[in-house]
Amino acid sequence: MKTDILIVGSGCSGLYAALHLPQDKQITIITKADLESSDSFLAQGGICMLRDEDDYNSYFQDTMKAGHYENNRQSVDIMIRESQRVIADLISYGADFEREADGSLAFTKEGAHSEKRILFHEDVTGKEITSKLLRQAENRPNITLMEYTTMVDLIEENNVCYGAVLRLADGHLETMEADFTFLACGGIGGLYRHSTNFRHLTGDALAIAIRHNIRLENINYVQIHPTTFYTENEEERSFLISESVRGEGALLYNKNMERFVDELQPRDVVTKAILKQMEIDGTNHVWEDMRPIPEEEMLSHFPNIVAYCREHGYDPVKECIPVVPAQHYFMGGIKVDSSSATSMPQLYAIGETACNGVHGRNRLASNSLLESLVFASRAATDVILHYDSVRRNPELFEKVRLEKYENAEEYGRESNELVLKAIEQAEWIMTEEEKVNSERGME
Ligand SMILES: Cc1cc2nc3c(=O)[nH]c(=O)nc-3n(C[C@H](O)[C@H](O)[C@H](O)COP(=O)(O)OP(=O)(O)OC[C@H]3O[C@@H](n4cnc5c(N)ncnc54)[C@H](O)[C@@H]3O)c2cc1C
Repeated sequence: MKTDILIVGSGCSGLYAALHLPQDKQITIITKADLESSDSFLAQGGICMLRDEDDYNSYFQDTMKAGHYENNRQSVDIMIRESQRVIADLISYGADFEREADGSLAFTKEGAHSEKRILFHEDVTGKEITSKLLRQAENRPNITLMEYTTMVDLIEENNVCYGAVLRLADGHLETMEADFTFLACGGIGGLYRHSTNFRHLTGDALAIAIRHNIRLENINYVQIHPTTFYTENEEERSFLISESVRGEGALLYNKNMERFVDELQPRDVVTKAILKQMEIDGTNHVWEDMRPIPEEEMLSHFPNIVAYCREHGYDPVKECIPVVPAQHYFMGGIKVDSSSATSMPQLYAIGETACNGVHGRNRLASNSLLESLVFASRAATDVILHYDSVRRNPELFEKVRLEKYENAEEYGRESNELVLKAIEQAEWIMTEEEKVNSERGME
């Protein structure tokens, strides 16, 4: 098979990149599952936007503070500066955000934001945005969408990418020749027992990057969300109780129904406090009380959260709900520059799979949809700039041996182990580094 540009992943980053690539190029977007099974559809809370110039410093500082000042300042600046353009684009595609009575955009606040700067659509902002992107992509004659199609490897020679090996919906293996390849494969939650992510998001791009010596960065920076609905069923994807619920006034209680933490601190701080409290109390969860939010507002702003809790035996209007931390987001990933180019020419990484350093050590709530979109369009711009110098290598495809990918289960298991081991090793190196730094008084 052959295409001009191959995009691996149909979440918001993959779709948005496709919509910014030239319409005279054939673009193929593949996804491991169906088109709606991406984390982009799950985003509840919202998407940040720079409201006005007066908010720039505060937004920048909030992002840096949440990221423990390990963020790439240039990436943060780019994300903030390009936010209004991206939102205008989304609105032009038909995305509908909450409005004030006078018709202007309504903003909400989440943990660690010092100002209201988050746009939302009820508590299904990701679905609102991504479904509109998907509709646009489906209407473009130059874009082909392939469901249940998995990238199993890249095809490269001398560190230049020429395409990928795919497992098609019927299980058979094929090569796909492409001038440029975009890795938009989302996060790594499927590798963890408890995660808010779709189970099929297992960091496949990272395993491939490790096999091909593509540079990674901060791969031990894994965010745990403080509040997911506690369930006894460990096979279930953890249901998120959005940060904006706490932003709007919800409180956290220990087993004696006493507060034990400032609920609006950054995620990692709240997570640590909850885990510590669970240990002290000897419990599997803590309690979240949504009742400080006026009932009318709770039902209009968080209808899906309320419905989910009710379906699972708790009515947030009348009682506290049980919550527990779970793996949620991956700040690290495939190292990219400010144009989303990886260390391998003709290969880009965007969205949660990539690490451009925006989030530093910890992501500020509602920055990831925005970051995914901003840097997806920058990758598209970079491709346009470099198309004339593209290298092709059709002979290489005759040499590709597909047999080694035949046992999908074994290959998948090896890939998962490769990623988990790399995360563990990075964690160990980090811990050692921290120990040395603290001994030198640097912490
Ligand atoms: C429950 C939840 C709530 C969230 N809420 C918010 C929020 O309010 N605001 C915010 O900014 N962010 C939020 N996030 C984070 C945000 O949704 C994600 O970071 C973002 O959507 C990632 O987009 P993406 O395009 O990188 O990946 P995704 O949307 O996850 O898409 C990944 C795609 O890659 C495909 N894929 C993976 N591996 C392969 C492979 N080997 N071959 C082919 N296809 C593959 C998948 O099938 C999928 O199509 C939330 C996340 C979750 C889980």
